[in-house]
Amino acid sequence: MRVVNGPTERVVVVGAGLGGLACALHLAAAGRQVTVVEREPVPGGRAGRLALGGYEFDTGPTVLTMPELIEEPLAAVGEKLSDWLELTPLDPAYRAFYPDGSTLDVRTDTTRMAAEIARVCGAREADGYLRFVDYTRRLWQLERDNFIDRNLDSPIDLLNLNLLKLLGMGGFRRLQPKIDQFFKDPRTRRIFSFQAMYAGLAPHDALAIYAVIAYLDSVAGVYYPKGGMHAVPRALAGAAEKHGVTFRYDTTVEKVTTAHGKATGVLTAGGDHIPADVVVLNPDLPIAYRDLLPPRASSRRLRYSPSCVVLHIGSRASFSKTAHHNIHFGTSWKGTFDEVINKGLLMSDPSLLVTNPTHTDPSAAPDGRQSYYVLAPAPNLDKAPFDWRGGLGERYADEILGVLEQRGYIGFRDGVEVRRIVTPADWADEGMAAGTPFAAAHTFAQTGPFRPANLHPTLPNVVFTGSGTQPGVGVPMVLISGKLAAARVTGSAS
Ligand SMILES: Cc1cc2nc3c(=O)[nH]c(=O)nc-3n(C[C@H](O)[C@H](O)[C@H](O)COP(=O)(O)OP(=O)(O)OC[C@H]3O[C@@H](n4cnc5c(N)ncnc54)[C@H](O)[C@@H]3O)c2cc1C
Repeated sequence: MRVVNGPTERVVVVGAGLGGLACALHLAAAGRQVTVVEREPVPGGRAGRLALGGYEFDTGPTVLTMPELIEEPLAAVGEKLSDWLELTPLDPAYRAFYPDGSTLDVRTDTTRMAAEIARVCGAREADGYLRFVDYTRRLWQLERDNFIDRNLDSPIDLLNLNLLKLLGMGGFRRLQPKIDQFFKDPRTRRIFSFQAMYAGLAPHDALAIYAVIAYLDSVAGVYYPKGGMHAVPRALAGAAEKHGVTFRYDTTVEKVTTAHGKATGVLTAGGDHIPADVVVLNPDLPIAYRDLLPPRASSRRLRYSPSCVVLHIGSRASFSKTAHHNIHFGTSWKGTFDEVINKGLLMSDPSLLVTNPTHTDPSAAPDGRQSYYVLAPAPNLDKAPFDWRGGLGERYADEILGVLEQRGYIGFRDGVEVRRIVTPADWADEGMAAGTPFAAAHTFAQTGPFRPANLHPTLPNVVFTGSGTQPGVGVPMVLISGKLAAARVTGSAS
């Protein structure tokens, strides 16, 4: 494994996103002197918190899977997850609403889930589900240790027996036909393949190895941290501080300083120079290259994931049929992915995620009120440079509310007390390339050792962490990326 050469005693981590925080904890555990420099007044980055008229909203991730990956950086410094976070398993993990009026509860317990599938789609479909669970569990075991939780320097690192096993399992064929081998009903086909969107692709284009995302949420379980997802970065930052990491909030880094072909530290917007032996960069990787690092002769053109519009609603209205997470599928399926990903259009027949945190945690809203978070996939700005600020954002928010009213949220509009719409233009303003918070898509050419590396190609003491580098997007992956980045500094096998 390639590692940072030279001294590694003083490390500056730019950004207190989940990647930066995990990295800081692993480095502190290995005895490094760590300073985290964060432009915002709080940790979390995309996992932020928005307070609006007495309501509280998570700004980014809401679906928490694999809490053992939060445990890992905490355990590195001798801390226990349960001392820092209170996690509630969500049951159901999701509730799926289909255009024919049927619903399906996704349950983590396999026996109960098989019974639910048998109830909605029949016994044969439940058998397919049990085979699917077995398949994805094996897939996850193979992928996790050999390909995800490991620093990969070159494609040659992939060549091992497990690669052959993955090939044998059809991991490098397309996801949708693989899903169709297990499921015959369009409803189960959708609920176990829509997660390809998390990887930035349509199920018809994604590799079957991404069936592990469905495994992580639908089989391994979804959790809600008390206080919302933002409680996760707060916990990690609290533990890091306790173990000697210095935090400088409200401090924007303007550039990485270099001399003799190495980084020497960072320069803040306030004019401070913070010297470092190693600089770890957590901002969106392409933006870090563009704004913080010396210009490169050539930079690779990346294909970005689609983006999303998020609508935060504080409301008087409550709906008896909703669970914590609700997915409302439109009638169209392939066409929806095609619109958002290939054609650069807004969805004509939207599929929407509606999260209702107050279902689990009433403290997220004033007494008797509800908070809702509606996520609508949307094209990124590379694909569709819409003028979101010129009224489109608000019009689209109205349109989404209208769709939800038609799909059973009767009186949703009238109950609204506060609302905020976040669009690709906002993600771009926050420093996310192509206005997407989901980074480079997980195409084959942007996966594993082909994804932008976590070591700078020429500056030997600059390391990257976060969703733009390996292994990829989402809370579980960026927590792993923090560990992999730290391993580049300490030389420990990851
Ligand atoms: C709307 C939305 C929904 C999502 N849903 C889910 C979900 O349900 N489940 C899931 O697992 N994942 C989800 N994700 C993805 C997940 O949130 C991200 O992959 C992950 O949080 C990214 O973490 P990061 O460490 O890579 O980056 P970030 O969180 O972006 O951290 C980067 C940090 O660097 C700071 N920074 C940037 N530039 C500078 C600078 N110049 N100086 C100092 N500091 C700087 C930023 O302020 C930020 O704190 C979602 C994301 C969004 C936005």
